Amino acid sequence: MKSRNGEELEYPWAIVHVDGDGFFASCEVARDPSLRGKPVVVGAERGIATAMTYEAKALGITRGMPIAKVRRLFPEVIIFAGDYAWYTEVSRAMNRIIFRYTPEVEPYSIDESFADITGFQIPKKTTYEAMARAMKRDLQKELGMTFSVGLAPTKTLAKVASKHDKPDGCVFIPLPRAKEFLAVTPIEKVWGIGRRTSVKLKEEGVSTALRFIDRPEKWVASRLSKPYVELWKELRGEMVHPAHAGVRGKQQSFMHTRTFTPPTSDRKVLSRELTRHLESVLKSAREDGVAPRLLSFFVKTQTFKYRSTTIKPLHPTNLPSELLPFIETQLDPLLDSGGPYRATGVIIHDLIPESSVASDLFAPTAHERLAKVYERVDALNERYGASVVHLAASRPGQRKRGAAPGPMRNGKKKPKNHTRGMPFFQAER
Ligand SMILES: [Mg+2]
Repeated sequence: MKSRNGEELEYPWAIVHVDGDGFFASCEVARDPSLRGKPVVVGAERGIATAMTYEAKALGITRGMPIAKVRRLFPEVIIFAGDYAWYTEVSRAMNRIIFRYTPEVEPYSIDESFADITGFQIPKKTTYEAMARAMKRDLQKELGMTFSVGLAPTKTLAKVASKHDKPDGCVFIPLPRAKEFLAVTPIEKVWGIGRRTSVKLKEEGVSTALRFIDRPEKWVASRLSKPYVELWKELRGEMVHPAHAGVRGKQQSFMHTRTFTPPTSDRKVLSRELTRHLESVLKSAREDGVAPRLLSFFVKTQTFKYRSTTIKPLHPTNLPSELLPFIETQLDPLLDSGGPYRATGVIIHDLIPESSVASDLFAPTAHERLAKVYERVDALNERYGASVVHLAASRPGQRKRGAAPGPMRNGKKKPKNHTRGMPFFQAER
């Protein structure tokens, strides 16, 4: 074991990057151990492979391969539709484990997190490298899947480290050894370098991350924008982007869920709850200026079984009334077991900037008008400090917040106070 003083020079900051290997597929295996060692692919709901076990990868299946092709060429492969409710649950468990080591945990995506463990080796009387190893061991033992872990002085270098020996890797990049890792990292594999930029850099002879950091700062600044100069600094071991606990705006999904006591089989109650969840996750999305490409919702039975569905709307949207009809039309197949159900939840994921949405729309004016209405709703709610305005369908649920869901009293009544003719709104007095 290294002396702690030595380690402090090697890691002026100690950032760990944790990355689940074939995460969605691994989650399926973790839930059903009989799948262990078998080729498993997730992505039926999108028609393309989004994640796969290493057994599937070994057959030659790659991300983005059409599911129809997978079925045709590899009939032995077990194919799943993504169950994002379950993956989100595993993701939360992952972050809770990392949180044991440091409060500075920054979830980056559903299966990736950064953790700043700087200084924590002292009270724990250990080293950074031993902490990273222990974190990996806890994650694997408790979640039943493998993780690739990287430790380095910056987030960008920690990403290089976790990628270096995937899957099941545990790679340390102390500052004095950064160059030897960057020498074998192709420039296009660096986090934040897109295809166009890597082509441009290669034309100038920059084929590896090492060649990139060996160029003077001026050279980089004269050719590329500020984020790339920051990236250049991070690769050189200079911290530009600290890992922050709970940074908003980087979230790639939002979930809202609630458990009932007692459980219920009442469809109206379940639909009302889902509507409320949808309102809250989309409010967060609007606050962050993002819109989801995918919407999932789920019900959980008393025996902790999930039934979930994932919908890809025609265009990404963060406006509740554009997504609400999906709950009504897709809820019944989820309720086939009859219940009772103890929880419901909504997840939105695959978030993209709101600004890039409008151009995809078939009816931009209608969407824009609706967006304006929601802007006013958000402003009102902001001003009065509570959800004073919400979708009419969720209103009785709001009233009974915290209480057991009872029968919907006025579910059949037409809402009295429409907001400017928008059918889904009702102001609560
Ligand atoms: Mg991953």
